[in-house]
Amino acid sequence: MSLPVIRPNPASEEILRRAHEQAHIDHVKSIGKKGLVRATIANIRSTMVQSYTRVSPGTYAAAINAAGAVCDAVEDTLSGKCNRAFCAVRPPGHHAGPMRGEGFCLFNNAAIGALHALELGAQRVAIVDFDRHHGNGTQAIVEKSGNGRVLFVSSYQAGCKYDHNKSSGQLSPTVLTLPIPEHSGYAAVEGLYKQQVIPALYAFKPDIILISAGLVRSPYKS
Ligand SMILES: [Zn+2]
Repeated sequence: MSLPVIRPNPASEEILRRAHEQAHIDHVKSIGKKGLVRATIANIRSTMVQSYTRVSPGTYAAAINAAGAVCDAVEDTLSGKCNRAFCAVRPPGHHAGPMRGEGFCLFNNAAIGALHALELGAQRVAIVDFDRHHGNGTQAIVEKSGNGRVLFVSSYQAGCKYDHNKSSGQLSPTVLTLPIPEHSGYAAVEGLYKQQVIPALYAFKPDIILISAGLVRSPYKS
C-alpha cells in the first residue's frame, strides 16, 4: 500500500502566535532573506536563533510548512478523516520556545499542533517526546500557553544539555520529565513507558496524542 503524500498548508502568523512571540516570528521571517553571512550575524546579535543554524531564502517557508503540516495532521485526525498521521518535516521544533529557537529548531511544530487541536475543540492534548534530548522548548510553551490542557511527557538521555529543570519526574500536573541513563537498553525504556508514560496518558485522557519524534542516526554524540 502506498501512502498518500499531502502537501501542507503553511501555518499562518496567527497560528504561530499561539506558541511564539511576534518578535521571534519576525526574526525567523527576516533571517531567511539576509543570506548566510548576514543571517549568521543577525542570529548572533538576536539570541533568538543560534548562529550555527544555517538559513536560506526558503527557511521561513520551510518552517511554516513544517508547523502547518502538523496542524493539518491534527485537523484530519480530529475530524476523523484519518486516525493517525506522520509528518516528515524539517526544520525540527522541540527546542524552540516562545521567544527563541535552539538546536536548529525555529518554530515548535508539536506545540503549535497541540494548541491548534485545542483551538479546534479538543479538551485535552498530550505530547509525548521521545527524542534523545529533553524538549525544553515544548515544555516552556506548554507551561506558558497550555492552560493546563496540554500534557507534556519528555523522555531523554540523563544529563541532556537542554534540560534546565532543577529536578525531574512529575514537575507539575502537566509536565512529566523522564531522564534515562546513558546506554540503557530497550527493556529499560519499555519499562519506563509502561510504568509511567502510559498510566499518565490514561489519567490525563487526551483527545489526541502528538508524538514528538526525534529520529537521528545512532550512535549520535552531542
Ligand atoms: Zn533534540
